[in-house]
Amino acid sequence: MESRLGNPKNTIEIIKKYDFVFQKKFGQNFLIDTRVLDKIIAAAEITKEDMVVEIGPGIGTMTQYLAEAAGCVAAVEIDSNLIPILKDTLQAYKNVILIHNDILKVDIAGLARKYNQGRSIKVVANLPYYITTPIIMGLFEKNVPVQNITVMVQKEVADRMQTGPGSKDYGALSLAVQYYASPYLVANVPPNCFLPRPKVGSAVIRLTRYAEPPVQVQDPALMFRLIRASFSQRRKTLLNGLSHSAELSFEKEQIAAAIANLGLPPAVRGETLSLEQFARLCDTLLQKGNVSC
Ligand code: SAM
Repeated sequence: MESRLGNPKNTIEIIKKYDFVFQKKFGQNFLIDTRVLDKIIAAAEITKEDMVVEIGPGIGTMTQYLAEAAGCVAAVEIDSNLIPILKDTLQAYKNVILIHNDILKVDIAGLARKYNQGRSIKVVANLPYYITTPIIMGLFEKNVPVQNITVMVQKEVADRMQTGPGSKDYGALSLAVQYYASPYLVANVPPNCFLPRPKVGSAVIRLTRYAEPPVQVQDPALMFRLIRASFSQRRKTLLNGLSHSAELSFEKEQIAAAIANLGLPPAVRGETLSLEQFARLCDTLLQKGNVSC
C-alpha cells in the first residue's frame, strides 16, 4: 500500500512508479496541498453517516481524505490509466467504490439508491474544468438527491455562480445555481497547489441545495429557456433576444406586453433582470395563454 498522498513528494513518487502521463483532454491537475484538502473536507461537512460521490479521483489523493471522513465514497474516474493506480493507493480503504466511467454517463441517483438507500448524498470534486457546467447542471436538473456539492472550479466560474444582475459575470449559470442552491466561497486556490500548475486561478465553492427554490415559478424549464435566450446574445435587448430565439415561439407583441406588465422599460437587457423577475416574466407569458412555447 502506498503512503498517504497530498504532498508533492508522494504524488511525484506515484507518477514515476506508474510512468503516468498527464492528459490535458481530461483536465488533469492534481492537488498537492494538504491545507487545501483539509479545507475542502471541512467545508463539505462530511460525517460517517454520509455517502460521498467524488468526480475524477485522479491518483486518489482527495479520495483518501474522503474515505476517512465519510461512511462510503463512490469515486468515478474516466481515465483507464488511473484505475490501476487507484487500486493501489486506495487498497486500504474498504469503503471506497471505484467506478471506471465518464461521470456524464453515470446514473448518480441510481448510485444513491444502490449504496445509500436513496438518501441524499454529498458530491465533492476537484473538477475537470472542461465539463464543470454540464456536471453541475446535470446534478441539479436530473434531480439527483444531493445535500451539497463542494467543488474546485476555475475562479472565474466561482465568481459567475455567486454574482447578481449588473455584473459582467452574471449569466445563465448564475441564475441556475442560485435557483437550486445557496453558494458559499470556501477558498481561493492559487496554481501552485496543483501538479501540473493550471494557467488560471481556482476556487473551492460549496453549493447547498435548497429544499424549496427561493422563487416560485409555474414552469421552471420554460424559465430556463427564457434565461438562456436572454443571455445568448448579450448585446441584444431582452425583447429581441427572446423574440429571435429558436427555443421559444412567443410573438414579439406578447413579449413586449409581458415586459411592460413587469414595469420594465421596453429596451431593457436580460442581464439586468433578477431571478425573481425572470420567474415573473415566465408566469406572465404563460398567463397570456400561449401554448406553443
Ligand atoms: N481529484 C484529483 C485531485 O484532486 O488531485 C484529480 C482532479 S483532476 C482536476 C480531474 C480528474 O477528473 C482527473 O482525474 C480526470 O482524469 C478526471 N476526469 C476528467 N473527465 C472526467 C469525466 N468525464 N468523468 C470522470 N472523471 C473525469
